[in-house]
Amino acid sequence: MAEAPVPLVTCGTHGRQPQTFVCVHIVEAMRTGEPTGFWWSRSEDGVWDAVCNECNSLSQAEFDVLGAGNIKLICLGCYEDAAAMNEIELE
Ligand SMILES: [Zn+2]
Ligand SMILES: [Zn+2]
Repeated sequence: MAEAPVPLVTCGTHGRQPQTFVCVHIVEAMRTGEPTGFWWSRSEDGVWDAVCNECNSLSQAEFDVLGAGNIKLICLGCYEDAAAMNEIELE
């Protein structure tokens, strides 16, 4: 069975790219250039996601309270840029 393709997003910098999800603090860190940590994972359907140090230290319940407003959709190119800024290598 082939994996279902990850939905694409159009990024002003990177063009058509697979979508990824990160917490707002990682998006903020990309704006400020101050790394906030990058804890990545990849879901079964191949979608990458990542949270900052602070979000990673929360319990699942605490994290859930923050809700959808805490999560941003970004393109895979931006995601890789954020990982590189935090000196994280993706596998
Ligand atoms: Zn965060
Ligand atoms: Zn991008």
